[in-house]
Amino acid sequence: MSDCLFCKIINGDIPADKVYEDDAVLGFNDINPVAPHHVLFIPKKHISTVNELEATDAELVGKLFLAAQQHAATLGVNADGYRLTMNTNASAGQTVFHIHLHMLAGRPFSWPPG
Ligand code: 5GP
Ligand code: ZN
Repeated sequence: MSDCLFCKIINGDIPADKVYEDDAVLGFNDINPVAPHHVLFIPKKHISTVNELEATDAELVGKLFLAAQQHAATLGVNADGYRLTMNTNASAGQTVFHIHLHMLAGRPFSWPPG
């Protein structure tokens, strides 16, 4: 999508601090980190929100989690723990409408979230 911020990062029109890439998924550091490690994993295919997911996207969504799993191991935070979050629409705090899996690590996280 031409007016999507994360599609522009995928296309290279906007720079990002990339930490992971494969054929279907891109991972890059969040510009406003809320933890010592804060990475966003996005599909290279534009999908606005979880509400727009289709059955044929199931493997792609799985790849987001596998990318996060792999990067957590690379960072060495997998045993200590990390949080994966995907916000959907306004009340959940979604501000960029291209689905993204937040990976937060490097400090303890409380529950319930704010
Ligand atoms: P959301 O609130 O939609 O769940 O998360 C969007 C995230 O994207 C936020 O954590 C925000 O800091 C991050 N973000 C917004 N614009 C940019 C950008 O231009 N570059 C990067 N790397 N992250 C961004
Ligand atoms: Zn997009």
